[in-house]
Amino acid sequence: MLQRLREQVLEANLELVRRGLVLYTFGNVSGISREEGLVVIKPSGVPYNDMRPEHLVVTDLSGKTVDGPLRPSSDLPTHLVLYNRFPEIGGVAHTHSEYATAWAQARKPIPCYGTTHADYFHGEVPVTADLTELEIAGEYEENTGHAIVRSMQNTDPLATPGILVANHGPFAWAGDATTAAHNAAILEFIARMAYFTLSINAAAPSAGNALRDKHHFRKHGKNAYYGQAKNQEKQ
Ligand SMILES: [Zn+2]
Repeated sequence: MLQRLREQVLEANLELVRRGLVLYTFGNVSGISREEGLVVIKPSGVPYNDMRPEHLVVTDLSGKTVDGPLRPSSDLPTHLVLYNRFPEIGGVAHTHSEYATAWAQARKPIPCYGTTHADYFHGEVPVTADLTELEIAGEYEENTGHAIVRSMQNTDPLATPGILVANHGPFAWAGDATTAAHNAAILEFIARMAYFTLSINAAAPSAGNALRDKHHFRKHGKNAYYGQAKNQEKQ
């Protein structure tokens, strides 16, 4: 079932390892087939080295397993809240990557200090509010998803393809699982550069709106012109 999506989601999980974003069995990536309303996600607690496409777990959007003998990642309910709330996303990646998690633990949004950041995030990387004791004691992983959604408010999830969960770590997303893992790597990279920026100049200002908009919208949206147009034939 969903063999191609299983392979894509497995590769996206392995990309987290290749990029040094996860230790041991930390982290998880999922992808969704919107036509079938089914999610493919990493199994819980299986070492990355041993993971095969058939180990991935297929669930519906309520979290019920429909294929696979293993238990899904315990963070599945967070992923499901995001898929249910943001129909434009097709993949979610979660890590405890070092610099992004440091910002999450400091509960500080990452300011947009330059064009590398603006190419991916149109403005700061937000940080969620902390969960209440009741939210932690209850459906903790699902409530983590709700905290993300509350912090996103009316933000376009494709213009802000990730967030820092307070005292926890980053979640990134995108139109598909491969790009979600890519965005998790980029988020770690810009978190690291922002840390260095502040250590060089603790009063460094954010990039101006004109530069931020220029870089973001040359890659995203209807007037994007960066890279090769998808439907353009070679002359
Ligand atoms: Zn986590």
